[in-house]
Formats: sequence, C-alpha cells, structure tokens
Amino acid sequence: MKVRVAVNGFGTIGKRVADAVARQSDLELVGVAKTRASFEARRAVERGYPLYVAGSGDPQRFADAGLPVAGRLPDLLGRADVVIDAAPEDVGRENRALYQAAGVRAVYQGGEAADVAEASFSALANFDAGRGKRSLRVVSCNTTGIARAASVLARWGVERWDVTLVRRAADPAESKRGPINGIVPTFEMPSHHGPDVRTILPDLPIATTAVVVPTTLMHVHVNHVRLRRPPASAAEVVAAFRATPRFLVFAPWEGVDGTPQVMEFARDRAGERGTASADVMENVLWERGVRLTGSELYFFQAIHQESIVVPENVDALRAMFELAPNKDVSIAATDRSLGIAHA
Ligand code: NAD
Repeated sequence: MKVRVAVNGFGTIGKRVADAVARQSDLELVGVAKTRASFEARRAVERGYPLYVAGSGDPQRFADAGLPVAGRLPDLLGRADVVIDAAPEDVGRENRALYQAAGVRAVYQGGEAADVAEASFSALANFDAGRGKRSLRVVSCNTTGIARAASVLARWGVERWDVTLVRRAADPAESKRGPINGIVPTFEMPSHHGPDVRTILPDLPIATTAVVVPTTLMHVHVNHVRLRRPPASAAEVVAAFRATPRFLVFAPWEGVDGTPQVMEFARDRAGERGTASADVMENVLWERGVRLTGSELYFFQAIHQESIVVPENVDALRAMFELAPNKDVSIAATDRSLGIAHA
C-alpha cells in the first residue's frame, strides 16, 4: 500500500516536491492544490496531477482558464494520508487547523516557525527524530545545507563554527524582490539560521551572519570551523564530503569558478541519468575551496535554494510512515529516483 500524498501550494518548492513524490514507488501523489490559475497550474494538469483549489482561490477562474479542477483543498485532504504544505511563509501555520480537522499528517517548510510541527527534520542529521511523527518541518534551504555539512564534520568534533551566508536576493522567477544593485547586511546578529540549525542539532556551537546580494542562482556559505580532532589534511575533508550522499564536489580542473558554472552544469545534466530537473539538490563544494590550517577549517559551499529541500521532503515522509529501516536506505532510494549525486 502506497502512502497517499497531497501537496498544498504549488510554487517554487511545491511543484518540485510534487514531481519528486510522483517518482517514488512507495508514495502516491493524489493531487496538488493551488490558489490561482497560472502556467504552473496548467503544467500540473498536463502532468496528470489532479488539481484542487487551495485557500481563497476561485474555482471559476480555473474554469475560465480551461483548467479542470477535482475539488477544493478539503476534498484533496480527504483522499490523502499526509499533506506537504508548501504555501508561503506563515501560511502553513494557518493551514494547520485544516490538516488537523481532516486528520491527515503534515510536513511543513522552513518558512514556518519550528513549533508548527512536532520536530524539525534534515535527513542526514536526524532522520530517526522523524520516525512515526504526525507532523514534521523540513528546515530551510540554508539550514539544510548547514545540517548536512555538520553531519560530515561531526567525526572531527566541532569546537566552534562561524559562517557568513551570502544570500540570493530572489528566486529566478521572482520579479518583485531585490536588491538588484547593492549588498544588504542582515542586522540581526547572529542571524536566525544558527538557532534554526539547533532545532536539529541542539549542541552545535555555530554562529551565523548574513548579507543579501543581487543574484538569483544560489546562496554561498563562507565557513570557518575550529575542529577538536582535526584530520591530517584538507584532502581528508574533501574525501569525506565526496563520500557522503548529497554532496557534489568540483575538482579544480573542471573550471567551475562559481555559481554560474554550477547552474550551467545542472542544465547540462538535466535529462541525463534520469535526473529530475535542472536543479542541484546537493550541497556544492569546490575542492580548491577547502583549506585546513592546523585545526582551522575553511570551506565554501553553494546551496541551490529552489531545490535542496526537495529530497528532504521525501525522506521526511519515509521517516513519518516508517517506510525505510534507516536513513541510508531512504536517502539512497530518494537520490536514485531523482538522479542526484551518489545515485
Ligand atoms: P512560492 O511563493 O514560490 O510558492 C507558494 C505557493 O503557494 C504559491 O503558488 C502561492 O500561490 C500558493 N499559496 C498562497 N496561499 C496559499 C494557501 N493559503 N494555500 C495553499 N497555497 C497557497 O513560495 P516557495 O518559495 O515555494 O516557499 C514555500 C515554503 O518553502 C516557504 O515556507 C518557504 O520559506 C520555504 N522555502 C523556500 C525556499 C526558496 O528559496 N524558495 C527554500 C526553502 C524553503
């Protein structure tokens, strides 16, 4: 019996999660809910996803656009075991009462406060914390990237970790956000990302600061970590990242100087090896961007904000419904289905 999954909110995250759920042999995508008729709603219909009207959406607008709808959100929830909420920040909390009334489990996204769900989740870092839960929150893109890296660094003991997040100003499809010129510091210091990582790894001694820059491609983290039991060389660190699922490490000869080449690589890769899309769901590192000086480790990592949380949503479902004996089995199944690194 497959777990029946609904996706409520079909924007940047929701449409990617729906595509990923549709690729899993132990999950069934029973429908997606959208507030407005749009090119994305049309694509849902073209992909054969039953389309439902979410929130205050008007079914007549969908009818006028020639888009058939199967009902409203409560109808979709009635056909599902679990809903993935991918509505805008804070709207997930408003939706929670609807999910509880329908008696379905729920996975929320990182735009919600941590107490929206029973636990926060990131597959490599705390898969087991999700086991059997009725609600989970998949942490944000930046927090997911840090939690994954922390899972690798744990073997050497983290004494202190400072990271500056160089954040993209907007997603590529967003035309109303900025800045389009300028660098905007985040004056909340440390930024909220450190506390957010500690919803998963409570003892991690991390402090985060952030600036927003005019790019849409990816975030970049500038990391400085003091290790308790440092390895002998940076090569060992690189090897550990390479050996871990969901890490993509570029060698110097590949000519990947920054995020533009990473996304060009993703476009080239799309369609090959069953890769789900021109997305980069892995943490991206540069071999030449990993430096070890005694116990001081420096490394850059890039985070594709639109997609890094997609495999985590799939694993969150496997943890909740105990569909995999451990994280390794779940991660391997998810990654194979999406064609991402180590698959
Ligand atoms: P988005 O704006 O691209 O998509 C949200 C979708 O939900 C839109 O299609 C919108 O029309 C729809 N919607 C609005 N009100 C709704 C309602 N009441 N019910 C259902 N749907 C409704 O937003 P997004 O970037 O996909 O973000 C979704 C969540 O994922 C947020 O919590 C966000 O913080 C988190 N997140 C976003 C990113 C990112 O970089 N885009 C990365 C990680 C996590």
